[in-house]
Amino acid sequence: MPPYIQREHPRSAFEVPIKYSVSNSSAYRCTRVLNSSAAGLCFETDHMMAPEDEICVVMDNYAPDQPGPERFRSYLTRIRWAQRRSAPPHEDFIAGAQIVACSHEVLIPSGEERCHRCDMCGALVQECRLQCTEENAQLCGSCHQHYRAIPEGKISECVERFLIGNVV
Ligand SMILES: [Zn+2]
Repeated sequence: MPPYIQREHPRSAFEVPIKYSVSNSSAYRCTRVLNSSAAGLCFETDHMMAPEDEICVVMDNYAPDQPGPERFRSYLTRIRWAQRRSAPPHEDFIAGAQIVACSHEVLIPSGEERCHRCDMCGALVQECRLQCTEENAQLCGSCHQHYRAIPEGKISECVERFLIGNVV
């Protein structure tokens, strides 16, 4: 077993297909996530990764309305540990990565694009895609849709206050 870092977030074993690329490379490899938590992803790889490697993970089955790791399109992650799973010559490894940022778009590691975090879900959003509420909270497209579906009244006022950080 790898030397697990103490976990603050419960993990769920839920296999999902992903593509990933190591930062500074535009080549994507296909693999699958074995389990995940709000803070990290554990996935299979066909080569050894080094701690601190920056990895961009793209969900094949992006489903913004579902709970679980596929609620975001992509993640920027940093490798925390990696280990060989079977003896050579099999190239079969497993790696644990910490989530640095999530997005409803495909994140480009160290990209030039100007991004902001959505005030509701924390996802990184390209500036041009941010949607503003009446009180000037900045939301991603997905949260803005949910926000607009809230009926006018007490709840929408509470949500608005929460978003602009003015909780009374
Ligand atoms: Zn959002």
